[in-house]
Amino acid sequence: MKHTLLFILTLFALSAFAKSEPPIALVIHGGAGTITKANLSDEQEAQYRAKLTESVKAGYAVLEKGGTSEEAVITAIQVMEASPLFNAGYGAVYTWDGEHELDASIMRGQDKQAGAVAGVKHTKSPIAAAQLVMNESVHVMLSGAGADAFAQANGLEMTTNDAFDTQRRKDALEKVKLNLMKNDHAMNIDPEVVDYKFGTVGAVALDKFGNLAAGTSTGGMTAKRWGRIGDSPIIGAGTWADNESCAVSATGHGEYFIRNHVAADICSRVKYAGLTIEQAGDEVIHKVLSPEAGSGGVIILDRKGNIAMPFNSEGMYRASVDTTGKVTVAIYGDEGETF
Ligand code: ASP
Repeated sequence: MKHTLLFILTLFALSAFAKSEPPIALVIHGGAGTITKANLSDEQEAQYRAKLTESVKAGYAVLEKGGTSEEAVITAIQVMEASPLFNAGYGAVYTWDGEHELDASIMRGQDKQAGAVAGVKHTKSPIAAAQLVMNESVHVMLSGAGADAFAQANGLEMTTNDAFDTQRRKDALEKVKLNLMKNDHAMNIDPEVVDYKFGTVGAVALDKFGNLAAGTSTGGMTAKRWGRIGDSPIIGAGTWADNESCAVSATGHGEYFIRNHVAADICSRVKYAGLTIEQAGDEVIHKVLSPEAGSGGVIILDRKGNIAMPFNSEGMYRASVDTTGKVTVAIYGDEGETF
């Protein structure tokens, strides 16, 4: 009898403790675009699911150990930067001239500090360089050779540009260049013409301190020219985090995301119009971007751990661990595989 009472009391104490645990959650994406079942072999699909799972679990493990949302975002993104499956770091797409120019950004929700790099060619982990800009410089955004020099001076690992090479992206460059020239679109990047598969990576996280963070890393768009910079390194367009609203990382046709200030617009609708993240995300993706034929998607997280992942392309590589610890990995439209 005494033991039973003790057991019940212990259960009560444990459940009370569990309830007082602050929520933690993490969401990632690995790019949006013309990603359909017909476009992926079973083997490729399995590879994507495995890597997305590895990334989201690695980031979540940081949060579980009491790490910050900033650290979790970096960890999750670095898993994808190191994988040739995604258009970030190793496996990044090629510019028109056959090089890689990488963009990345990160933002913290509690103090709205942010860092970004654009067009780096030799920094192995662009997201680490963005974090360095945020934490170790008085600036928000560095570009090109200067950004690489800053990363090197601060001890980040540097690499040759061809270390980011993959045959798959080289083949994509040839195809896109042919298409662009054939369609007299050489000065345009038009997804209608060139059937883009965006492969940018991003993460948003909520840590046990109640702080949000967001980060994005990319090689940009295949065959980009003249130092073109997309939305991913632009705070407010491709990345945004504010504890008073939400955290967002975007992927898609960058020019549309820049012009519509997509990431910050979603959070502004939450902050000033009182929308849920789901409503705000749907409005911006489906009512602002879609009518303009701006293709792509976003991942969104708020301080309660609510998650939204709207997109208007055929698919978006995505995964999450919610506040109950449930892992979800999905690729195509209307799909939520849980295990
Ligand atoms: N948003 C990226 C850019 O325009 C591309 C992507 O998401 O894959 O550079």
